[in-house]
Amino acid sequence: MRVDVITIFPTVFREFLGASLIGRAIAAGLLEIHVHDLRDYTDDPHRSVDDEPYGGGGGMVMKAEPWLHAVRAVCGDGPRPHRILLSPQGERLDDARVRSLAGEERLLLLCGRYEAIDERVRMLVVDSELSVGDYVLSGGEVPAMTVIEAVSRHIPGVVGRPESVENESFRSGLLDHPHYTRPRTVEGIEVPDVLRSGDHARIDAWRREQALKATRRKRPDLLAGDMRGQEVAPKAPNRR
Ligand code: SAM
Repeated sequence: MRVDVITIFPTVFREFLGASLIGRAIAAGLLEIHVHDLRDYTDDPHRSVDDEPYGGGGGMVMKAEPWLHAVRAVCGDGPRPHRILLSPQGERLDDARVRSLAGEERLLLLCGRYEAIDERVRMLVVDSELSVGDYVLSGGEVPAMTVIEAVSRHIPGVVGRPESVENESFRSGLLDHPHYTRPRTVEGIEVPDVLRSGDHARIDAWRREQALKATRRKRPDLLAGDMRGQEVAPKAPNRR
């Protein structure tokens, strides 16, 4: 997959793109990411990207022309990307949307700043608006990293063990079960016996039950009314 990002703060992506799974996915050629500086698409000596709002009021508005030049220039290069404006007004990002985005060949992420981007950018060059939650951040860079990190987990080969992704929270409509590692006792709390039993059928059953309990306790909204008392569908076995 190829992802292009347009931002006025390209350097904030540097560490992020070199670290952990994303860094390895890029090095392995599974993911290609290009970060573009919006100011490179301005045509004035000050490289200005914002101006006063029509109608007055507080805050500056990002000018349409640099965005239109940038989006068109970036899109001209290869297959047409799905063009996403990161915005608190967008559809809320969730697991289903992440998986559908992972099926795209190319994404283009537009990171806003200031009070807003001139509305005509959304009207002319944006396919969808995506929000990472009902709160307002100062810019679209952290939401863009959220999209990149969430989507890349669904690209084959990025996460070493595919069953890790299969068994994660939300995938089967439930949260993940609790996990433990050594030591066996931490401040008097023991690892549940079943996990040391070596009986994989019992371990799988315990994990399903714990996933359902965790979902009922922490996110009952995920359970459909008729599912609240029902058996849980088996998850893929999670063997080491
Ligand atoms: N005035 C806008 C409003 O109230 O809808 C908020 C603008 S915000 C300060 C600046 C930029 O941050 C937005 O253009 C968007 O790119 C990004 N942003 C802020 N909150 C976001 C969220 N929850 N999800 C995605 N992007 C967000």
